[in-house]
Amino acid sequence: MTVARFAPSPTGRLHLGHAYAADFARSLARSENGRFLLRIEDLDQGRARPEFEAGILEDLIWLGLDWDGPVVRQSERAAAHLAALEALSALGVVYPCFCTRRDIVQEIAAAGGAPHGPDGPVYPGVCRGLPGAASAARVAAGAPHALRLDVARAAAIAGPLEWRDRTIGQVVARPERFGDIVLARKDAPAAYHLAVVVDDAAAGVDCVTRGDDLIAATDVQALLQALLGLPRPDYAHHGLVRGPDGKRLAKRDHAMTLAALRASGVSPEAALATARQLCSSSESQ
Ligand code: GLU
Repeated sequence: MTVARFAPSPTGRLHLGHAYAADFARSLARSENGRFLLRIEDLDQGRARPEFEAGILEDLIWLGLDWDGPVVRQSERAAAHLAALEALSALGVVYPCFCTRRDIVQEIAAAGGAPHGPDGPVYPGVCRGLPGAASAARVAAGAPHALRLDVARAAAIAGPLEWRDRTIGQVVARPERFGDIVLARKDAPAAYHLAVVVDDAAAGVDCVTRGDDLIAATDVQALLQALLGLPRPDYAHHGLVRGPDGKRLAKRDHAMTLAALRASGVSPEAALATARQLCSSSESQ
């Protein structure tokens, strides 16, 4: 049975791109007699707002995209995220990182640049080399820190990895391109890649649907699944809804929010039809 999900962040009103993503996940689940789940990705407590979460539910109901079971909030899953972090730590692939953003920029400048990964310049690994005892003492003294994945060591433990996309087929994962990703932030117990992997597995999601801007991210998520012994879902990455300028819609495109379209008298059917029309894959750009 296919279990798919829509996993928006409550950091703004939903737009046509979200309508497309939710409809894509729900249609896939429904066509295979499966379940369609809703997860609110509210780990960024600085930006998440209850009124945006309420807006998400209101917009989905307006679109007729009802979901199965209770709404899951990532902020309520801290215990599961922590358990995953502990399991990764036990494998020796996690280290504390005390660098501020500014330290990282300075370090990269001093080194004359850094390789560019899918999410930007790769972390130069300053804290990876710190002696364990010194790091532990700083952590014990309450020094603010993030936790990073030692991606080279993790990839060596996991061995070669592949994942499957229903459209593009088998993909050989190259998680090293990301460098040592953040697993937990100073101010949040889990960062995106870890939380998404843990929460999808806990909910039994067996086909992850999402925009094709996240294709590369799947490499690093496949690595985390392997390290944590979690089942690897299928993936179905879809194109993104683009505005007239060819750029993907963003939360700042207020005219394309579902709330604005609704207020201007657009019907839910017309909104979904427009979303489908404006959707194109990144490759065709
Ligand atoms: N919360 C993510 C977003 O809004 C989606 C994450 C995912 O589907 O893996 O883009």
